[in-house]
Amino acid sequence: MSESRAFCPRCGDPVPDRSAGDGDPAASGHAADPLRPGAEVELCDACYFEDFDFVDAPDRIQVRVCAQCGAVHRGNRWVDVGAQDYTDVAIEEVSEALGVHVDVADVAWQVEPEQVDENTIRMHCYFTGVVRGTPVEEQVTVPVKIARQTCTRCGRIAGDYYASIVQIRADGRTPTTEEMDRAKEIANQVVADMEATGDRNAFVTEMGEVDDGLNIKVSTNKIGKKIANKMIQEFGGTVNDAETLVTEDEDGNEVYRVTFAVRLPPYTPGDVIDLRNDDGGPVLVRSAHGNLKGTRVTTGERYEASHEEGNSPDARKLGELEDGVETTVVAVEDENAVQVLDPETYQAKTVARPDYFDPEAETVPVLKSRAGLHVLPDPDPDTGDEDDDPYDPYDDD
Ligand SMILES: [Zn+2]
Ligand SMILES: [Zn+2]
Repeated sequence: MSESRAFCPRCGDPVPDRSAGDGDPAASGHAADPLRPGAEVELCDACYFEDFDFVDAPDRIQVRVCAQCGAVHRGNRWVDVGAQDYTDVAIEEVSEALGVHVDVADVAWQVEPEQVDENTIRMHCYFTGVVRGTPVEEQVTVPVKIARQTCTRCGRIAGDYYASIVQIRADGRTPTTEEMDRAKEIANQVVADMEATGDRNAFVTEMGEVDDGLNIKVSTNKIGKKIANKMIQEFGGTVNDAETLVTEDEDGNEVYRVTFAVRLPPYTPGDVIDLRNDDGGPVLVRSAHGNLKGTRVTTGERYEASHEEGNSPDARKLGELEDGVETTVVAVEDENAVQVLDPETYQAKTVARPDYFDPEAETVPVLKSRAGLHVLPDPDPDTGDEDDDPYDPYDDD
């Protein structure tokens, strides 16, 4: 490669023509424009390295971390980084902040953190690379200050902030422990799912049982809505929402708090109810989704409430499947009747024989109520038949 007639614009020494052969006249060196520094001007190596700055590093870096949850402040927001220790966070922040000259090829670097005190880490960084065929290296030390603060979310949680309340109630009764426990689980799950997608504004502020149910305070209306919908999906019932103006934010926008009132159905699976205006016998409730469905404890036949009745047919509750008491089968009379011992008086009584009654059984669970004595299905059908239990009222087959 021959030397061109280009000269270093600073010292006047001849410089090798780096663009020889590519036919670009702009690269000949004569296109140098002093008003456009760097524009095609080729300095000689001596002048180039005089100005060369390999690594551009800030004097110091401050990392804002949340002392409660460990989130790191980046840009203008808090980010969950899941860091166990702040050294990793500090290394990451330093690598973001350091700049390396664009001309350098084969850049490699390593960093040695030096913990100075609880909140200061000194980062010793070593860089190597190649520019203009010359190996270059540089060492910089950047002190990183860890500033412990409280992130927006932790501040809100500490301040009992909430945007929405979900009220878990039931029609004509108090929600069961199972329903309330499930509501708490759903609330935690909805929040966990949203957190998993990186949503930092999802949290449960408070869950508190009240006389007639459970109140769940959550950070956004969206979460409240999800919990309420999931509850009625699982248990049936209805949800109504109502907005209340609570305040205006800093920008003068009206801030509403939304209450989601969940009303669970009056009867739950496992309830034994006596329908008014119906002489088909008491019904063991199987499902309260849509129209109430169940099994007649007199015959074992299926029952379904009409569309108008929905999940609340006119009825009274007699007891629950779990209230059943094991009693002795005295005799099987015929296909419609069986004799059992009254669990209170120990007198043999003839009662209706439902089709789930097992003629081989020595004892059966019975419910004694205002409506009389009735044979119930085995509440724990796992004992006996392995898979498909024909006596299981919850079995849809
Ligand atoms: Zn020069
Ligand atoms: Zn926090």
